[in-house]
Amino acid sequence: TRRRQAALRDLPGRLRDGRSIALWANIGRPAEARLARDNGAEGIGLFRTEFLFLDRSAPPDEDEQFAAYRAVITELPNRPIVIRTLDVGGDKPLPYLPLPPEANPFLGVRGVRLSMQRPDLFQVQLRALLRAAFYGDIWIMLPMVTTLADLVWGQEQMREAAAALAAAGIEHRADPPLGIMIETPAAAVLADQFARHAAFFSIGSNDLAQYTLAVDRGHPTLATQYRADDPAVWRMIDLAARAAQQAGIPIGICGELGGEPDAAVALAGLGLNELSMAPARIPVVKERLAQTSWAEAQAAAARMVQRVE
Ligand code: PEP
Ligand code: MG
Repeated sequence: TRRRQAALRDLPGRLRDGRSIALWANIGRPAEARLARDNGAEGIGLFRTEFLFLDRSAPPDEDEQFAAYRAVITELPNRPIVIRTLDVGGDKPLPYLPLPPEANPFLGVRGVRLSMQRPDLFQVQLRALLRAAFYGDIWIMLPMVTTLADLVWGQEQMREAAAALAAAGIEHRADPPLGIMIETPAAAVLADQFARHAAFFSIGSNDLAQYTLAVDRGHPTLATQYRADDPAVWRMIDLAARAAQQAGIPIGICGELGGEPDAAVALAGLGLNELSMAPARIPVVKERLAQTSWAEAQAAAARMVQRVE
């Protein structure tokens, strides 16, 4: 199978009967982009930008962020690169971003909610992203979205950043795709409404499982109750997939579920356009998908969702 995996490396992801399903990589630092490419990633489905903000006394400025985003473009030119805006919260305090203590940080000010409280920081990140988007196929993704107002706010912020760059005569792309993570039950349940406004969806199965099942994703004794492949989570994923397809927007997954071969088959069967995973997971998942027909994938999906046809 090593030989087969190597032979598939530079080919696009496909099912046995030819239906395409792109395999993208999750990265947490620009240096990992090379690893993504070496494993045959056709794009970056999740670039977590937290590394820029952690372990320092002041936030990164626009040029530093721009350089980090451009470095990924340089490794994967002409490939889609989904960059997620800052996703921290009360569980990971930053010295320059004091947050009041919260009884339940995972239900508190995190992801886009933190950006809404600190639009100054968000504008700097958006400006860096729009500047990078001039040089590559950058998609911008908002984490922890629960209401349509979160997305509308993000769209307004992007327009504001673009206007500021235009006024200053700085090269940028004003309208890269702006999409959302589907990682809260609210986003999954309202996916039909979100799909009319978002450019794309990406399922964050790690948090989606935590919030759907009401189990802390790192809980020391409830590990068996925290399952990203629980039928309840599959129902959520199914809702999002149908809504995306109805609206004609792309949908992928960037939670760890997408890197598990059995789950990947079922996700392909739900019609996802793209599976994004740790670079090292790509070869085995690509091989497995290449051995699976579209009908088999659809049957696997129906079993997971426990849909009565
Ligand atoms: C997720 O929640 O599935 C996800 C991809 O984001 P993170 O693991 O960074 O929370
Ligand atoms: Mg998440």
